[in-house]
Amino acid sequence: MASDNKQPAVGIDLGTTYSVIAYVNDAGRPESIPNSEGDLLTPSVVLFDGDEVVVGKEAAKASVTELENVADCPKREMGNRVYHKQFGDRRYPPEALQAWILDKLKRDAARAVGKFAQAVITVPAYFDEVRRKATMDSGYIAGLTVQDIINEPTAAAIAYGYQEGWIDQAGEVDAPTTCLVYDLGGGTFDVTVMEIRKNSFRTIATDGDMRLGGHDWDQKLIDHIAQKFISLHGFDPRQDNGALGRLMRDCKAAKETLSVRSKTTIACNHGSNSLQIEMTRDKFQELTIDLLDRTDFTIRETLKAAQMNWSNIDRILLVGGSTRMPAVREMLASLSGKEPDSSLSPDEAVAHGAAIRSAMLSEHSNAAFRPAEIRNVNSHSLGVVAKEVDTGIEQVVRLIPRNTPLPVVARRVFKTHKLDQESILVRIVEGESKGPEDCSAIGRCSIWDLPESIPVGTRIEVRFKYSENGRLNIRVKLGGDDKRSFRYQLERPNSLTQEQLDSWREYIAS
Ligand code: ADP
Ligand code: MG
Repeated sequence: MASDNKQPAVGIDLGTTYSVIAYVNDAGRPESIPNSEGDLLTPSVVLFDGDEVVVGKEAAKASVTELENVADCPKREMGNRVYHKQFGDRRYPPEALQAWILDKLKRDAARAVGKFAQAVITVPAYFDEVRRKATMDSGYIAGLTVQDIINEPTAAAIAYGYQEGWIDQAGEVDAPTTCLVYDLGGGTFDVTVMEIRKNSFRTIATDGDMRLGGHDWDQKLIDHIAQKFISLHGFDPRQDNGALGRLMRDCKAAKETLSVRSKTTIACNHGSNSLQIEMTRDKFQELTIDLLDRTDFTIRETLKAAQMNWSNIDRILLVGGSTRMPAVREMLASLSGKEPDSSLSPDEAVAHGAAIRSAMLSEHSNAAFRPAEIRNVNSHSLGVVAKEVDTGIEQVVRLIPRNTPLPVVARRVFKTHKLDQESILVRIVEGESKGPEDCSAIGRCSIWDLPESIPVGTRIEVRFKYSENGRLNIRVKLGGDDKRSFRYQLERPNSLTQEQLDSWREYIAS
């Protein structure tokens, strides 16, 4: 328990497949908090069981038999209006599903370390603005005060640095250290190059493959077994939900076994037909080599964006459960000529870093962590949609290119084009494409109630500011003067309104 009436400093890794909550203990060290089932990792899965909502292990188990009642990987759908599946006659926004997961973590943790209201939550570095906001909203719905959202690789680097002692509690690091954080989880992959010096964590470049993770390694095994089953019995076990559910569970388990042992057996049954196959680590690596190559491709792109090569990298930090696969470590060692660092538990490092960050931000924290400076980059370009004068075609005008150090401000001037114009609409997007439809829409900034009889061509300046944590802020000035009366508002089509947030909060966390 945290001593006295101080609240514990808490960090949460709200993962795609597993979530972890940690706090800084009385000895000043980050420690994961077991959930009420006694596990450190809570599957990020929600089960709708009649009127009851079950989160975690039991929900994950139920996905084998009653997939229709299970919401898994809601994190992948953050930024969408609703989760793709309907439960009973209800649809849920992904923020609410994530809030149920946070709520369980919070309640279970409070039983172990005492009540708390504040926490730092982590997000993937490649999360765009809309998803960052959605994550903060999930925290709000779960009844938490979100102290900060920090990037998962930054959190991991903080945890590695402090726990291995190459950064001390005062935040000093002997010499500038350049790290490559390789994070391969269950459903996502990302790479980040960071520079750590003195008391600052600076992200230089980051890139990710949102659709690559341990699940894909499982799938290769599933497909392999299914092919064998088809040639033996003439039936595809993937067509039967029950058989598929069991196959998914068993292939994931076999994959994890192959990280430790050089062979295992996988069974597949359907009706009276069955099949047992011996799977060796070598065969498994051969089946999945293209997936590993995809991670190599993303690393190359990230190093290029950082204008670096392997010789600039001092440390490779392994994060995410899938980095336990020996092939990952072997590939990184052979590419870099360095032994990757896996001294921390790869599925807890992010939560530990978040807990340290929480301690840094808490005035009354029990540990003396000097606040570190965290410098991020934006992982997606920011732009506005504009009509080309000659062609009338809508195109994205890029205002802030990706990988720009944050905070950053960009301004753009719009001009009124008719007399007595009453309003202006600015569409704001994030993405790398020139086509607005290929970018992710942040929202529309409407500026209205413009003063009467302003001349044609009046300048309206919109100022876009990304703060350190990647959240966007907008200000509007009219003809160089921001005191003249007019109103503006950023409408976010894919975000919940304050009323909706409050009503979900009442429903889930009270
Ligand atoms: P996320 O960040 O996506 O929530 P994690 O970092 O917890 O996920 O990683 C989960 C993934 O790690 C799962 O696909 C799981 O199968 C995989 N994993 C965990 N342990 C092992 C292991 N020993 N060998 C191979 N994969 C593992
Ligand atoms: Mg993760």
